[in-house]
Amino acid sequence: MVICCTMSYDLVSDPLALGTDEMESALLERDKVGVQDFVLLNNHLSLDEFIENLEKRFKHDLIYTYIGPVLVSVNPYKDLPIYSEQVMGTYKSEDFYELPPHVFALSDAAFRYMLEENRDQCVLISGESGAGKTEASKKILQYIARASRHSQEVEDVKERLLESNPLLEAFGNAKTNRNDNSSRFGKYMDIQFDFQGVPVGGHILNYLLEKSRVVGHAPGERNFHIFYELLNSNDVVLLEKLCLSSDPQRVCVSESEFCIFLQTPCNYRTHLDGQSSQVTVNDTNMFKVVRNALDVCDFTPEKQQDLFAIVACVLHLGNLQFVQERGSRTQISDEKNVAIISKLLGCDENILFAALLNRTVAAKGDEVKTPLSVEQAYQARDALAKAVYDRMFTWLVQRINDSLTSKHLCEMMQRKERRTLFGLLDIYGFEIFENNGFEQFCINYCNEKLQQLFIELTLKSEQDEYLREGIEWEPVEYFNNKIICDLIEAKPMGIIAIMDEECVRPGDPTDETFLTKMSNNIGGHLHFTSHETADKSTRKKLGRTEFKLKHYAGDVTYFIKGFLEKNNDLLFRDLKKVMTQTTNSVTLDMFTDKELENKKRPDSAATSFKQSLSQLMTILMSKEPSYVRCIKPNDSKRSSIFSRSIVEHQVKYLGLMENLRVRRAGFAYRRPHKFFLQRYKSLCPDTWPQYSGTDKEGVQVLVDHLSYQPDDYKIGNTKIFIRLPKVLFATEELFAA
Ligand code: ATP
Ligand code: MG
Repeated sequence: MVICCTMSYDLVSDPLALGTDEMESALLERDKVGVQDFVLLNNHLSLDEFIENLEKRFKHDLIYTYIGPVLVSVNPYKDLPIYSEQVMGTYKSEDFYELPPHVFALSDAAFRYMLEENRDQCVLISGESGAGKTEASKKILQYIARASRHSQEVEDVKERLLESNPLLEAFGNAKTNRNDNSSRFGKYMDIQFDFQGVPVGGHILNYLLEKSRVVGHAPGERNFHIFYELLNSNDVVLLEKLCLSSDPQRVCVSESEFCIFLQTPCNYRTHLDGQSSQVTVNDTNMFKVVRNALDVCDFTPEKQQDLFAIVACVLHLGNLQFVQERGSRTQISDEKNVAIISKLLGCDENILFAALLNRTVAAKGDEVKTPLSVEQAYQARDALAKAVYDRMFTWLVQRINDSLTSKHLCEMMQRKERRTLFGLLDIYGFEIFENNGFEQFCINYCNEKLQQLFIELTLKSEQDEYLREGIEWEPVEYFNNKIICDLIEAKPMGIIAIMDEECVRPGDPTDETFLTKMSNNIGGHLHFTSHETADKSTRKKLGRTEFKLKHYAGDVTYFIKGFLEKNNDLLFRDLKKVMTQTTNSVTLDMFTDKELENKKRPDSAATSFKQSLSQLMTILMSKEPSYVRCIKPNDSKRSSIFSRSIVEHQVKYLGLMENLRVRRAGFAYRRPHKFFLQRYKSLCPDTWPQYSGTDKEGVQVLVDHLSYQPDDYKIGNTKIFIRLPKVLFATEELFAA
């Protein structure tokens, strides 16, 4: 079989995937290109051997390898010819193990299972920043869109599902030092199918956008893509409307005019072309892609205008400067900017002006206006920019969701017809930066929760399968990271609870008092260290304003500055009120009077995140999971480098060795009776050419004839389980002889 050159190569890595003639050369080739399923390697596989197998395959452009049903993917950092329509066609309705490992094989298996068993699915994609999660999720979506049934009505749904990707990437992704297209938000997408497997709609949930990027980013990084795309859009009319171009002749507005971009020599992002060299992504073209996606997703020209007005508003807000002459109040140095912002939002300039410089506080039944200091005014400005951008992003997701709700789906909902769901989770990977703050804390907490789920579900599903099949289970030791999840989320003495308490404490709570409180209360925890609680040697490396968490994926030192402010997520009521009085449909939708009337303190940022993660876990637990574990081969985004130390670290923390051990402690191979009998029936005169009894009985007759030892295998209710690959190999060799 020839799928393409890369794939036919891979076929030789698993002799089981071949016909008789190619068998011998296949076994020889296997040494060169590694095996396609780790369970085929020897029983006491070391970490080195594990990595060697990945490296061999990587060097031959074989980026996918299985650990049983789990797909391990190594980022090739170059375009491989393995995602064509033709390849998709090859994987359609093929048995999972019959073709080389591929993200399409995993997608196909999950999709078919959903249709056949009527069971909701979800694919969980994990790995660190730049490991290839988003790319994998896009491939899965493309595959599902192609594999699912067609009808004119659902073509729209499919197109919108696909177009939602570039749209959300423009607003939610940014170039970071790790990844030129890093997702700065978490995304869970459900594709909804009717009983015939026709996609009738979709729904996206977004998680914690890294909104602090709006007001600042690290050197060498960029702000969200959309800012650059808009500024380089060449759309003179639009730019003029948004007051981004004073000169109609000058179509490209310089980024240097906006303070929200840190001026570094590296304000571009790159993309990999077919030859694995990097090319700069053209922001002008990307803007066209965004425009098209907005059209496809039913955003009217007016809505689009309002959306871009918000983007422009954030740009202008960043340029607002505050000054204070001696003895006088804080002033805005460039009042023209306020006029522009109020025009973009559609609000009264004077009211906005006052809200940017004052804060109204309720005191003894009266409202007292207090002028802000320069520092406070900057803080208020940044809080507004962040809130506006963040809410705009959520608004965007909601509007996309509206467009993903087809007529067919509404009718189904009215009739209360059951839908099956195919979920896709692409959420930020574990992050260890030089400077780790509140955002990294939340992101890494999220990864702890996902690891928990992975542990529970892989072990649980393994256990369930043995139970279903009536086979005994041998438990395996593994590190359970529940202890870290508890450290973060326990009440009343978990990190989030302590932080929340400190945020509302009267007096003068600061980041430092929060750190002290943690040291006093959780200082003895095995996974927490601060300067105060550290032993002598660690103390030298840990600053007084830092704490270290021993995450399942490694130690991370967090810098305490900004934790309380970001957790408080305070936007002054005056500014909120202005937003409710705007005419821009985005702000009007996202800032409501109801919020103003609500006297209750809103949940802190960490607590809201904790709650949305807990809901996410419930969603995921209710579905049949499949896993893609993504690995980054090097830190320099290069296609030819496989750094063993970098890969080793990821293999360790992704728990892949444990995963393999669990898989092996049970049974390395399992095949439905029907397939096993079909393949090997010629090896026994009693089963050839046809066995007259049930498949299960036929399998028993066959393995008796082949002298399988009782310990080698178990016959379950629907499948045969083979403990060691060598037993299967021996059978395969007999078959090939
Ligand atoms: P983050 O957590 O920062 O969002 P990520 O895991 O989503 O990271 P991706 O954006 O998917 O990472 O991948 C980073 C880059 O690696 C891509 O922009 C692309 O250039 C390259 N890449 C990833 N997967 C593949 C692939 N299968 N084929 C070719 N290139 C890939
Ligand atoms: Mg991503």
